[in-house]
Amino acid sequence: MTSNALRMIQFKKASDLRLYLEKQREKGRKIGFVPTMGALHEGHISLIHESAKNNQISVCSIFVNPTQFNDPSDLDKYPVTLEEDIRKLFQAGCDILFLPGIPEMYPDGTQLTKKYDLGYLETILEGSFRPGHFQGVVTIVHRLLEMVRPDNLYMGQKDYQQCMVIRELLRQTGLEKEIHLQIQPTRREADGLAMSSRNMRLLPDQRALAVSIYETLRFIKDNYTKTGFEQLKKEAEKRLTDLGFRVDYIEIADAATLLPVQNNDNGPLVALAAAFMGDVRLIDNLLLN
Ligand code: AMP
Repeated sequence: MTSNALRMIQFKKASDLRLYLEKQREKGRKIGFVPTMGALHEGHISLIHESAKNNQISVCSIFVNPTQFNDPSDLDKYPVTLEEDIRKLFQAGCDILFLPGIPEMYPDGTQLTKKYDLGYLETILEGSFRPGHFQGVVTIVHRLLEMVRPDNLYMGQKDYQQCMVIRELLRQTGLEKEIHLQIQPTRREADGLAMSSRNMRLLPDQRALAVSIYETLRFIKDNYTKTGFEQLKKEAEKRLTDLGFRVDYIEIADAATLLPVQNNDNGPLVALAAAFMGDVRLIDNLLLN
């Protein structure tokens, strides 16, 4: 098999996947891994392309992880487009699709027993609005990493805090010695809206308004050297609220720690936003400097 997949192999069982990947590793092949929840778009596919460019074997997993949904109705409505996903992955040069069922990933049930210590990362921003979310994320990513044991792990900057949480997981488990986290830029629609599986749930007029999250982050980027941060965040929130969004947060944070900052005196900054348009929760972020 070449890295430019002539075929894409699907596995449902972790034991079969492990065995296959062990053989590939013995042949000295590097393995890239892209964990996803499906409903794939160009953002996901850009991660597959990056993996295919830099590894001989690219593995994608599709698993809608129930333990990271703090809102059950969000889980129920999560889009599933498996046939399309398979076609896109094949075309992108993915070699292996891992499609586990819930019993494969949660043999002892979905009640989480092991608690990861993620420190403050778990309680700020996404963590504070989605209690338990990151415990679900690290649990599933840790299990997937133990199954795939990739050389390179590809994740999107779109989920900025998630990348930081996974970096912390790699550090705490010592996996960082074997697995290199490769964070890829956010892919956007032509108008700037960050691509997201949830975008397909937006009605046409909601979709038209959704781009305002990106535009508001741009507004922060254009003004953060001129306007005080508290004032700027207030104005940004008002822009979104006036358009009909329900804002969870708009924050300007230290890009390395994600802790909020009050002024422009220190190092790199990131602006982050989360807001509902109707019942669809959208997130985005932009590096400021
Ligand atoms: P998800 O299926 O939402 O769990 O996302 C799977 C991976 O794709 C995560 O690492 C996301 O950060 C990444 N991703 C999602 N949207 C984008 C995007 N617009 N651009 C780049 N990567 C993305």
